[in-house]
Amino acid sequence: MNVIQTQGVGWIEVVCGCMFSGKTEELIRRIRRAQIAKQNVVIFKPEIDNRYSDNEVVSHSKQKLESVTVSSAQEVLELSQDAEVVGIDEVQFLGAEVVDVCNQLAKDGKRVIVAGLDKDYLGVPFEPIPQLLAVSEYIVKTLAICMECGNPANFTQRLIDSEERVLVGTDKIYEARCRKCFKP
Ligand code: ZN
Repeated sequence: MNVIQTQGVGWIEVVCGCMFSGKTEELIRRIRRAQIAKQNVVIFKPEIDNRYSDNEVVSHSKQKLESVTVSSAQEVLELSQDAEVVGIDEVQFLGAEVVDVCNQLAKDGKRVIVAGLDKDYLGVPFEPIPQLLAVSEYIVKTLAICMECGNPANFTQRLIDSEERVLVGTDKIYEARCRKCFKP
């Protein structure tokens, strides 16, 4: 995808998919390109996601970027005033109000890049990703590889018994699965 930097116009980019699909890697890649171009960037992650590191966005492949931990979408708005490019990882944890915040930032002329999980462990769309997809200019869906059969994987299989919608963790709790192998 080519994004041309224009003056005074903002937009929203959404990177979404299941776990292990490289969402955070893609977010980091885009933010790094902006940093190389000497643009003023800020990256946020929700407080709930404290895996690996407290003040960095880290991908499963151990790439990392310095980030600011926030507990609400409103904080993102307040802390983005000087930024030209705003990145948010695990955006699904910031709730419905993040949609208005992203719209406001884009309206203020900022490039907003959000990454998040599009479905929960039951395969149900994870709000506010559907709403963000509807208002965004650019969308990329990342796929993983099914850990059972090797087909393209679009689902996150939970391996342990829990009915909590949010259960933060990685390797032994979740697996990427294709449509055929996914068992909600
Ligand atoms: Zn499969």
